[in-house]
Amino acid sequence: MSSAQGRVVVIGAGVIGAACAHYLQRAGWKVTLIDRGEFGKACSHANCGYVCPSHVLPLASPGAWRTGLHALLARNAALKIHPRLDWRLWAWLLQFARRCNRRDMLQAAVGIQALLNSSRILYEELIASERLDCEWQTQGLLFVFQTPRGLRHYAQIDRLLATRFARPARRIDSAELAQLEPALKPGLAGAFLYDSDAHLRPDRLMRSWHQRLVERQVEIREHCEFLDIHHRSSGSTKRSSLAHAIRTSQGDLEAEHFVFATGAWTATLARPLGIRLPIQPGKGYSITTDRPQLCPNYPLILEEHHVAITPMQTGYRIGSTMEFAGFDATLNRRRLELLRQGAREYLREPEGTPVREEWFGWRPMTPDGLPYIDRLPRWKNVWLAAGHNMLGLSMAPATGKLIAELLSGERPHLDPTPYRCHR
Ligand SMILES: Cc1cc2nc3c(=O)[nH]c(=O)nc-3n(C[C@H](O)[C@H](O)[C@H](O)COP(=O)(O)OP(=O)(O)OC[C@H]3O[C@@H](n4cnc5c(N)ncnc54)[C@H](O)[C@@H]3O)c2cc1C
Repeated sequence: MSSAQGRVVVIGAGVIGAACAHYLQRAGWKVTLIDRGEFGKACSHANCGYVCPSHVLPLASPGAWRTGLHALLARNAALKIHPRLDWRLWAWLLQFARRCNRRDMLQAAVGIQALLNSSRILYEELIASERLDCEWQTQGLLFVFQTPRGLRHYAQIDRLLATRFARPARRIDSAELAQLEPALKPGLAGAFLYDSDAHLRPDRLMRSWHQRLVERQVEIREHCEFLDIHHRSSGSTKRSSLAHAIRTSQGDLEAEHFVFATGAWTATLARPLGIRLPIQPGKGYSITTDRPQLCPNYPLILEEHHVAITPMQTGYRIGSTMEFAGFDATLNRRRLELLRQGAREYLREPEGTPVREEWFGWRPMTPDGLPYIDRLPRWKNVWLAAGHNMLGLSMAPATGKLIAELLSGERPHLDPTPYRCHR
């Protein structure tokens, strides 16, 4: 086992970096956590807040390439791909299309589920032991369908989740749905309820976690950008190099290990890291308001419109959509309107007032839906925890725990094979 008294620098202070810092500190490491912006203010800030073991299946599934093709052509689809001359985007799309088959989908699902299930348990522990103030609620998640056709189609997925992944939902018919969730319009086709799912308020989680990390002597440096790695190697190449410091916008930082939790930006670090990874930014939006008078009791996925509704104790959020447009930082009002339109189709009072925040974040998307949690092949002491797609919040605690175990030379609590860099 490595000496757990040494220092680890974690680069990237989103929910994944925070979880890595937490479990590394608990394993006895001294931890410095840096971010080129502010702690928790990138994709982990105003996402939909679902901690959802129900989301076992990756996007790449049989027939999903057709949705991708539609996304290239349609203007107002929930999934939108802006065609551009970027070979990395086209290589990513090709890899994604190749995985749109049942065998690859089921294989990826095993790795996704292991992280989701472990994280769901770890969140309960974490919230209790660290007294994390994040509006944690455990009433489950309702997948709502407008049309009988949508409901019938989802019944097949539900069967698959029940039989292969022991994750069944309760099917709810139209009449019961109207009673269970009075905020919904009457006449919807029905729903599936996953009662093991939970939700929280992401910005509160990050604020509270920041405080606990500081109390536990984790050094947090904001506006500190990673620029390059200083290393010792036997030859001129970076093969099996030992990194001894990183160069940042605030000077050099020395450590025994370095963990990159740089989310959607990880692929832009290919040169210093010495590896090309297929991670594309998948832009999603959210609108946060005060709670409407008739606020839903349950978090809802409005399935035909791919819109997520999160009722929080201190607010209300409409979120989702996916746009592959590189790091385009404009707040596209048409995408925000799509969210509102979706909410209007299903809810009696679709939006609260006033609007507190209109936001977008870049999800770190991989073609197979799995993150990278591994030591980088060319380095003895540089690690990666990135590429958590649409589920980074739901997978964070298990990712942090796994990184701490791998780095400390302990037996991992789950099989790390699905998350290898070369897979
Ligand atoms: C609309 C929307 C809804 C979502 N809803 C959910 C949900 O309900 N449940 C769920 O589980 N997930 C959800 N997600 C996905 C989830 O938000 C992400 O998977 C997760 O936030 C990724 O976390 P991260 O820590 O990897 O990345 P980030 O939070 O983006 O953090 C990466 C950090 O790295 C820093 N960084 C990058 N480069 C450098 C550098 N060179 N030097 C220093 N720092 C650097 C960045 O500044 C950033 O702070 C949603 C996403 C969106 C957009």
